[in-house]
Amino acid sequence: MAKQHTVSSRSAAMRPQRDLWRAVTKGWSGRCPHCGTGPLFKSFLKPVHHCESCGEEMHHHRADDLPPYLVIFIVGHVVVAGYMIAEPFLDWNSWQHLAMWIPITLAMALAMIQPVKGAVIGLQWANYMHGFGGEEDEAAEIAQGG
Ligand SMILES: [Zn+2]
Repeated sequence: MAKQHTVSSRSAAMRPQRDLWRAVTKGWSGRCPHCGTGPLFKSFLKPVHHCESCGEEMHHHRADDLPPYLVIFIVGHVVVAGYMIAEPFLDWNSWQHLAMWIPITLAMALAMIQPVKGAVIGLQWANYMHGFGGEEDEAAEIAQGG
């Protein structure tokens, strides 16, 4: 007996390949991962409902906790490594180190959170995740009581 395919797996196989690197870099730069021209965010961390340039719906994204997790991971490694490299060369007390590394930590985190969130949305768009493929997302169905 031939293996049965569901409607969604058959349509998923016929989807055109989306350029992952292009989508991630467009999202990183705050642009729509589809057309690359429309803005991705309407405020600091609030994505637009849909792209004003091409109409691509952006409300499907489920970036959730991944952007802050990635920012903590990256900033933590840079700051801790920077401290450990600088510490033997600087005759500073703890307060002087705190006065340098805390502002660097805050500045890096604030500078990176929006680009990282855009990149995560681009990644989800390129992989047809969470409704970006035209199907209702399971998590959204559960949230709506479906
Ligand atoms: Zn667009």
